Amino acid sequence: MSFSSQVKAELLRVRPEKSCCMLSELSALTQTCASLRLSGGGRVKVVYETENPALAKRIFLLLKRRMEITPQLEFNRHQRLGGRRLSILTVPENDSMPLLVALRMIQQSEGGVVYKGVPRTALSRRCCRAAFVRASFLGAGSVTSPDQEYHLEFTAPGARAEALQKMLEKSGIHASVTVRRGDEIVYIRRGDDVVSCLALMGAHSALMEMENIRIRRDGRNQANRARNCDEANLKKQLSAGDRQARAIVAYSLRHSLGALPGELQELGRLRMLHPEASLEELGQMLQKPVGKSGVNHRMRRLMAILTEDETHDGDVNDDQASIGFIGDHAAQQDAD
Ligand SMILES: [Zn+2]
Repeated sequence: MSFSSQVKAELLRVRPEKSCCMLSELSALTQTCASLRLSGGGRVKVVYETENPALAKRIFLLLKRRMEITPQLEFNRHQRLGGRRLSILTVPENDSMPLLVALRMIQQSEGGVVYKGVPRTALSRRCCRAAFVRASFLGAGSVTSPDQEYHLEFTAPGARAEALQKMLEKSGIHASVTVRRGDEIVYIRRGDDVVSCLALMGAHSALMEMENIRIRRDGRNQANRARNCDEANLKKQLSAGDRQARAIVAYSLRHSLGALPGELQELGRLRMLHPEASLEELGQMLQKPVGKSGVNHRMRRLMAILTEDETHDGDVNDDQASIGFIGDHAAQQDAD
């Protein structure tokens, strides 16, 4: 399985729960996987096509749960796809217009003029941005195996490219736009940004795998340097949420979040995904929401475990790390 397929399989296990996020996902999937079929008299049908049966299922469930629409499902073997099976979901005519209006992809007043928009919430709320980026990736994204290079991209024709780029920038991820075979491509090619994008979308296993590869690829010195230089500076500048998220990522690189008790695992994953969220907000995102003091207590337990683990783990490594760093520094001076 390619790294890309692996990321997609993981993302399909991340389910949007909130109504706003379901709409954001649906919007991105409609923009990437759907086309409009005109059927005379200005009437249209929205038709989704995908080679990925699991993605078809996701679209089906979103339409059903969020919009109360039951699309018609059929399969087609396509010569163009070398005989691979295509899943086709057709939204009934009566439901198509309301769907496009709900997704803000059409202006009714202008007699059915289609414009490719994104739901307003998608740009302002972080939860919806994450959902939108995740679904854009599922519909039209790919990521190169980090063994080869750091590169993640989305095909996003026309104005969508700029919208997606803005959305990524808002989440602190630097993205560029280029044109390939007539289509705009939004791409990310710094390792840190690819990692942030995986985190934003919720692909945590892929993120851990990529971090492990990065440590191997970029060498130990750099890891040491990051540890010695960055951490000292960052510790001063970072918010509590960022520090917690970093500690959790570091822990999951050494072990796995699976080693933690279930409730701490859940909180840890949420913190990695939402470093900026307040404890109160995190509490509301839990499957069984708890209040601020409840989360605070849980976060302290989690941090206590992480800190203790780091102290044990760091006995030998810390020494090596400092030696590595000093050695490196000296080498640079020699070169001067
Ligand atoms: Zn949302």
